[in-house]
Order: sequence, then C-alpha cells, then structure tokens
Amino acid sequence: SDVLYDVHLQAIADTGLLLLSFQNVTDLAQAERMRRDFVANVSHELRTPLASLIGFIETLRGPAREDVDARDRFLNIMADEAGRMNRLVGDLLSLSRVEADERVRPTTRLDLRDVLQTTVQNLDRLAADSGVTLRPQLGSAPLGVLGDADQMLQVFTNLIENAIKYGGENQYVDITAQTGVHDPVLRGPALQIVVADHGPGIDPIHLPRLTERFYRVDSHRSRELGGTGLGLAIVKHILNRHRGRLKATSRPGQGAQFTVILPLLQPET
Ligand code: ADP
Repeated sequence: SDVLYDVHLQAIADTGLLLLSFQNVTDLAQAERMRRDFVANVSHELRTPLASLIGFIETLRGPAREDVDARDRFLNIMADEAGRMNRLVGDLLSLSRVEADERVRPTTRLDLRDVLQTTVQNLDRLAADSGVTLRPQLGSAPLGVLGDADQMLQVFTNLIENAIKYGGENQYVDITAQTGVHDPVLRGPALQIVVADHGPGIDPIHLPRLTERFYRVDSHRSRELGGTGLGLAIVKHILNRHRGRLKATSRPGQGAQFTVILPLLQPET
C-alpha cells in the first residue's frame, strides 16, 4: 500500500504540474498578445504624424514650392507633428525604463514636500497660461517615503499636467497631502496625495482602464492637447516600484481626483 500511496501522490503531483504548465501557457499567450497589441499601437501612433509629415514634404516639393504663405503654415504643422513624435518616443523610453527597474526598490529617503514644491514651481507657468491656479495644501507633517526623486517628480508632473489640460480654463487644481492614514492594502501607515481638478470629470466606466497604455477617454481631445496616452501608464509602473498605487475617482461635472498612495516612512529617531 506504500507503493500505491506513492503512485497516488505522484499522480496528484503530475496533475498539479500539468495545471501549472497550462496556466503558464495561458499567461505566455496573453503576454504575447499584449506585446503584439502594444507594437501595433506604437506603429499606429507613429505612423499618423509620419504620414502627415510625408504628405507635407511632397506638397512643399511640388504645388506649394513658390507659395511663401503656404510654406510657413505647412512648416508650422510639420514642427507640431515632429514634436508629437518626439514626445511619443520620449514617453516610450520612460515607460521601458520604469518597467525595467520596477523590481528594484528605491532606497533613498525623500521628503515628498520638496518634490511636490518643485513640481508645482515647474508647472506654474503652464498653469497660468491656461488660466489655472495651482493650490498646494501640504500641511506641516513630514512626507517621508523611500523613493526615486526623479520618478516621483514624473508622477506628480503627469497628474498635475493632466489636471491642467483636461480640467478646463479658469479653475483651481488642488494638491493636498494627508499622512498617517492606515492603509488596508499596505497594512501600515500610508501617505496620500490627491490631485483634484474641477473640470468636466470622467465617466466612471473609464476609471479602471485609465492606466492602460494608449487608453484615452477622448482620443481626439488628447491628441489636440499633445497627449501620448502613456502618462498614466508611466505613473502606474513608477508607483508599483514604490509599493504604491493610484486611485482615480470622478463623477461627470464634479472634476477628477487622482490619489497617490505610498507607504509612509516614519521620521528617523
Ligand atoms: P494622455 O497623454 O492622453 O493625457 P494619460 O495616460 O495621461 O494620457 O491619460 C489617459 C486619459 O485619461 C486621457 O486621454 C484623458 O482622457 C483621461 N484623463 C486623465 N486625467 C484626466 C483629468 N484630470 N480629467 C479628465 N480626464 C482625464
């Protein structure tokens, strides 16, 4: 009966392995599908401005050769299209870099107050040009995290730029910090930073998909505003690396609120 028992265990083990390998095959197939979709999306995103550039070059070589006014107009459009490609390639590089070191936990102690103040300073001009006032309310408690300062700057730049871009004119963007919240997912003290605009908001059906690459609620509007559709995907990967996460809440007409949740570092004693 010992032998039978062994055989039985072996059968269970085999089934387990079999299930495991089926699981891996499905995972692999899904990863492969995602990779193909991504390459297709990137090609499409690059091809659109490229097609327009090729078209304008042809026109400038032919029909518009002697037309000074048309030439200036076309060159402006071409500069915009080249700028769009440049931003896209820049964001693709950022995304691939943050994905590559997603498993390497940052080890530097940072006070996010400094990072947030720098971000707000950097974006004050852009905000003013759009008639937007940035209102940081960071309180006085230390906002300590283990983090990569450049990546944290990128996170808040992307969120505040979106609030400025999509929030509409003549409004406020509130940036608030809250410490010492117990977080059920982190099972410990967390830091929450909320970027809230008072614009048209986002229909809740879109919220779960916002951090997918190239997901846009309104592609036309995103393109018009110079968006690449990668900003929130970059944010998600950076926050993963920091053991943090992003929460988005919104109701149409009530603005959008993006909350960054990070493990809070206790002050050094
Ligand atoms: P994009 O480059 O298009 O801005 P993001 O990844 O930064 O890409 O954002 C994805 C989409 O989420 C945007 O295209 C936009 O539709 C929506 N979105 C992001 N932030 C806001 C906001 N504050 N208000 C309304 N919509 C937003």
